Amino acid sequence: MVSHGTASDPGSAREPARSGAAGPFEHRMDRVRAAMVEREVDVLLLSVGPDLPWLAGYEAMPLERLTMLVVPVDGDPTLVVPRLEAPRVVERPGVFGLRAFGETDDPVRLVAELVGSGASTARLAVGDRTWARFVVDLQAELPGARWSRASTVTGPLRALKEPGEIEALRAAGEAADRVAAQLQCGEIGLVGRTEAEVSADLGARLLAEGHQRVNFAIVASGPNAASPHHEPGDRVIAPGDLVLCDFGGTMFTADGVGYCSDITRCVSVGEPPSEVADAYAILHEAQEAAVEAATLGTACEEVDAVARRIITAAGFGDRFIHRTGHGIGVEEHEDPYIVVGNAAPLEAGNAFSVEPGIYTERRWGLRLEDIVVATPDGPDPLNTVDHALVVVDG
Ligand code: ZN
Ligand code: ZN
Ligand code: ZN
Repeated sequence: MVSHGTASDPGSAREPARSGAAGPFEHRMDRVRAAMVEREVDVLLLSVGPDLPWLAGYEAMPLERLTMLVVPVDGDPTLVVPRLEAPRVVERPGVFGLRAFGETDDPVRLVAELVGSGASTARLAVGDRTWARFVVDLQAELPGARWSRASTVTGPLRALKEPGEIEALRAAGEAADRVAAQLQCGEIGLVGRTEAEVSADLGARLLAEGHQRVNFAIVASGPNAASPHHEPGDRVIAPGDLVLCDFGGTMFTADGVGYCSDITRCVSVGEPPSEVADAYAILHEAQEAAVEAATLGTACEEVDAVARRIITAAGFGDRFIHRTGHGIGVEEHEDPYIVVGNAAPLEAGNAFSVEPGIYTERRWGLRLEDIVVATPDGPDPLNTVDHALVVVDG
């Protein structure tokens, strides 16, 4: 089912391709094809972004040279790659064929040809993160085609994790927990260091604990913690500070697909003021109740509401300024979102964060975050490190 070779110069000057097992990818391709039929999509086009590694075990380089997996609903998938990147591709003959193009070839034309004879009226779903320069050029090449976003096909599938994906998320979560434990036991120095230095330290520890990539490491101290997505800066952490740390990275499986971690813990350098300790007790109660509420069939928005009701009853409702959570997998933020308006019921295999927060402008901020998987046996938290507002010496 696979045609190997290059667009311009078949066979010659190619590096020997590495060959990989089909892994979970054949099964995913079957699921994708079924969803394409259901959603009336003729061809799926995936470029940069997480859909491609999830479906084919290959991550496109975010470059001006096009990489695109062309998946016809009833034909063989083809991965179009720049020739110089072909050696990076782990070929999976049961999953896709490879077409490497040379520097003077037109990859947009090549993709249009692969879309096939019905191209003029094809219903195409293109990866949400595909660069506009390629989408615009493809639209010019395929003027009669109808376009939609690939996430309408892949999003609902990616939201239902396979057992192997849950184990990959668990491994990433355990590694993040180990870093959080180092923070809580005082092994990560805080006083006298800048937020940026502590952020770099957290990142290095994520790598040391088995991640291949650091995605973010928010360190927000004192009043900076009132900004949920604070950019760690040159503020020097001092005794008495509350320090909010929210960090995560990507850990790759043997199949070459990366899965994300994401955890938030707050520590206090010295005993926190009672106002902060009291607010944290409410936050902890809200987070725990929301995790417990995350049972199969419960609406995503109800999980949000459980946390919000507790925080609102304590008088902090207007200080909980974001949704309760987001799905997580090959992307840090993906379906399902734990937010008002998402009435979708939790299904077995949904993996998502539960991360309420309370923010008092210009003074302090608190957030507590775990990743949780919905299972028939109830919510399965992937982060179990101490949930308390741990006091550290410095
Ligand atoms: Zn987070
Ligand atoms: Zn998160
Ligand atoms: Zn707890």
